[in-house]
Amino acid sequence: MALNPRTSRTIRMLLIAATLCAVFFMRSQFAFAVDTPKPLVVYFVDVEGGQATLFVTPAGESLLIDTGWDGFGGRDADRIVAAAKDAGLSKIDYVLITHYHSDHVGGVTQLAARIPIGAFIDHGENSDPKDEPTLIGWRAYQKLLAEGKYKRISVKPDDTLPFRAAQFVIVNGGGKVLEKPLPDAGAVNQNCGTTPLPPADHTENEFSLGLVMNFGKLRLVDLGDLPWAKEMELACPVNKLGKADIYVATHHGLFFSSSPALVHGIAPRVAIMENGAKKGGSPSAWDIIHSSPGLAAIYQLHWSDEGGTDHNSPPEFLANLAGPDTGYYLKLTASPNGDFDIFNARTGETAHYPHQM
Ligand SMILES: [Zn+2]
Repeated sequence: MALNPRTSRTIRMLLIAATLCAVFFMRSQFAFAVDTPKPLVVYFVDVEGGQATLFVTPAGESLLIDTGWDGFGGRDADRIVAAAKDAGLSKIDYVLITHYHSDHVGGVTQLAARIPIGAFIDHGENSDPKDEPTLIGWRAYQKLLAEGKYKRISVKPDDTLPFRAAQFVIVNGGGKVLEKPLPDAGAVNQNCGTTPLPPADHTENEFSLGLVMNFGKLRLVDLGDLPWAKEMELACPVNKLGKADIYVATHHGLFFSSSPALVHGIAPRVAIMENGAKKGGSPSAWDIIHSSPGLAAIYQLHWSDEGGTDHNSPPEFLANLAGPDTGYYLKLTASPNGDFDIFNARTGETAHYPHQM
């Protein structure tokens, strides 16, 4: 049947319009699939009062901060490797050793025996060669490096780690801290006050590496075991770190750190304390963090014996309760828009924290 030219033109135009609609729909579906941002994940591995924090960026880059303790049949290395496997890693790109105390560098040899490592990042030489336990950790690390298989990078404040999908800025290390505030920080800190300092700590803790991680709108602060007096250099009279979403409680939540000037200055939404049952989680540090303005929750890797009923978070915020060692971890999943979730491996529950800064 022959159509008159006018009808034929109308059909052609309808067909073109339908095709355009279909293309637009498919593009929008495709764009949705492509544009949904991949998250960044952080595992807070339970190493019984040491540190082992594993970051995996959306590009699959990995950074482990510290290796837990030596001994215990490789317990800490096994837990780190389990977290790495859960994240789909077959290798850890960078292992950052904050300092040479045994709860941080102790597990390095056992870890290297279990999973390939790309490079090590540290603050430089051991500052405390007269302390025998520190010397043991330092020597084990040197022995591993002497195998010649690993690159070693020593960093200092203001250095940026070689990652593409998140920014890691070193803010303390080797006994020094950032000279200038981060680009979006530097406001006068109203929380400097006159809180008396705890006893001075001039051990390797003072040389700890610490960093700020920026991922889109999200900021995480982890200063290692930096003592209170050094925290003050970052926080007063101006807050060099700015506001943060997540605060990894300095020095396992021991009272030597977590000054009100630092904690209330960065005003985190959530704090994560890498404490053990009998290490960290001091009541005074817990109180300072708990009273921080805008804080929604303190997560703890362990119930703290010292904290008792008044200075521990409710059970849903604890990865490991009092009693036998269970080794559960906490996992942060962050979106570049600043929203994040925290998963408690013990309860299987996830809590959502919308971005608020
Ligand atoms: Zn420590």
